[in-house]
Amino acid sequence: MISLERITFYLSERKIHTPMTPASPSSPADLLISEVGPRDGLQSISAVMSTAAKCRWIDALAAAGLREIEVGSFVSPKLLPQLADTAAVVQHALRHPGLRVMALVPNLRGAQAALAAGVHKITLPVSASEAHSLANVRKTHAEMLDELCAVVQRVRAHNATAPTPVGVEVGLSTAFGCTLQGVVPQDAVIRLALACAEAGVDEVGLSDTTGMANPAQVRRLFRRLQQELGERAGAAHLHNTRGLGLANALAALDVGVRAFDSSLAGLGGCPYAPGASGNVVTEDLVFMFEAMGLRTGVDLDGLLRARAVLREALPDEPLYGMVPEAGLPQGFSPTH
Ligand code: ZN
Repeated sequence: MISLERITFYLSERKIHTPMTPASPSSPADLLISEVGPRDGLQSISAVMSTAAKCRWIDALAAAGLREIEVGSFVSPKLLPQLADTAAVVQHALRHPGLRVMALVPNLRGAQAALAAGVHKITLPVSASEAHSLANVRKTHAEMLDELCAVVQRVRAHNATAPTPVGVEVGLSTAFGCTLQGVVPQDAVIRLALACAEAGVDEVGLSDTTGMANPAQVRRLFRRLQQELGERAGAAHLHNTRGLGLANALAALDVGVRAFDSSLAGLGGCPYAPGASGNVVTEDLVFMFEAMGLRTGVDLDGLLRARAVLREALPDEPLYGMVPEAGLPQGFSPTH
């Protein structure tokens, strides 16, 4: 029996990305959209997608121009049977040149499996709320930081002989509020982010795991994160639980965030708000940025094709998104 708490933890967000780079004529994009559906989405629904369908979906996502995909999670198959085939999915995703293949790992054991599978980046979820951390992984912050240090050491040993170094990122889940603890003080989030950076991770991002963030809070916390961590300040992983996903993404953009997690069709729903999308919807996020004249490198028609692949694979699952429902506006042309 999988407890809701543990599922919630693994839902807990993460993600780190390439540091923001200024646009230039040779730069293909202004922003990085990191697709998390194959991990974040699939782990939060009960249906199990076949390996073949996951591979078709990832192919369609890569064809749409997504440059980073979190393809799965190296956790116990007993805990998350939906992601038991992550190693095989990684193997398949690695065929796409130019695609950064990421996986979530909760601990050293998962990191070892991820390295063996050949991922480009691993990401660890660290709960900003200690109550959340204790409830879900039965680890205090200090114990989780020990685990993180062990993972970093292992990855460094791997990188010493690897042709291409593997990156390590942390996503601070419940950074904007926690259903167990309630308010998560900003200072506590920043202290933990600094501790993760000191442990040697490449980037630390912030995740609105419970969909509690508002735009003013997003501005404040990302500004602080950037002041304290500089280029090691990572991505925004936002949820649309209360309808503020895009508003929060815009707030993060305003203060200089250039990497965003999102999920095709907002896959995964949300345990806290039935009928609301969980993750920010990739189609809507890409549309917003492209309509603003910002290059994402992602093709909206390609996303709609990927959505059709997803629909076929999960016919009973609700798919979210306003742009796919309404269609692109007349005369709309994406930014190139
Ligand atoms: Zn999420």
